[in-house]
Amino acid sequence: MNVPHETLSSALPAPDLAALSTCLGPLAEAFAVRWVEHCASTNSALLEAPPDDDGRAHVLVATRQSAGRGRRGRAWLAWPGASLTFSLLWRFAPGAPAPAGLSLAVGLALARALEKLGVPAVALKWPNDVLAHGAKLAGVLVELLPGRNRAFAAVIGIGVNVRLPAGTVIPGQESVADLAGELNGALPAREVLLAAILAELHPVLTTYACAGFDLLRGAWQQRNAFASLPVRVSGEGADIAGLCLGVDEDGALLVRGDEGTRRVLAGEVSLRLAP
Ligand code: ATP
Repeated sequence: MNVPHETLSSALPAPDLAALSTCLGPLAEAFAVRWVEHCASTNSALLEAPPDDDGRAHVLVATRQSAGRGRRGRAWLAWPGASLTFSLLWRFAPGAPAPAGLSLAVGLALARALEKLGVPAVALKWPNDVLAHGAKLAGVLVELLPGRNRAFAAVIGIGVNVRLPAGTVIPGQESVADLAGELNGALPAREVLLAAILAELHPVLTTYACAGFDLLRGAWQQRNAFASLPVRVSGEGADIAGLCLGVDEDGALLVRGDEGTRRVLAGEVSLRLAP
């Protein structure tokens, strides 16, 4: 994809953090937002140098993210003005259980935000993709940061396609969506988009921190892109085919095949619709 970063980024005004704060209303106090022009990977930056704990969720937004990551060391591609890319550091209380299903919870928050902005036909593809009309519109990458006293934090990376350059082809991805296409060009300002996502993330993460994924499971299943469809799970030596039954209380995928129902953990596997 040959889109010169500088050309696109130089056309962008500085982010309007006051507008972001206005959109967030009282929730603005819950977040510390730093918006930089360039960052290789916002997840890596927060993992390498986590901000001090001041009780707020720290958010790092990059207008231009040049080395965004997906799972399995894969790349998340973004272009300035064409994508919203940011990461959020969420600290869990000491002794909190291991975070099962967290990337599904984050996907749910993202889906709700996009629905509220008017994006039609939003669905969730286990474990970490948000689709619109079956095409990938946004991705999530959750990485854990162990802390002192058995406490840990999650670094939650989110990338949303806003207006992809014409003719964008993303290797390994058959169909890709962007907000411009889904909203017929009526794009929200990037600050409005970010605020909409943070406003959904906060209650979802608060619920998750208290009760785990189970309380969010029903809402996730309502949006399951492959509900009751034949699927194939591959990777990590697994090759499982069957009907997608949904997810369990830990966010594991349930697939009913010839040999009964299998439970698949997110790990390094890929989920596809069976041909
Ligand atoms: P799988 O497709 O195997 O289920 P995944 O969708 O969960 O894996 P991730 O590791 O989360 O994949 O994301 C990285 C993949 O997403 C890349 O390999 C590429 O195929 C795709 N991708 C990268 N950038 C974008 C983008 N801007 N929009 C849509 N898809 C992208």
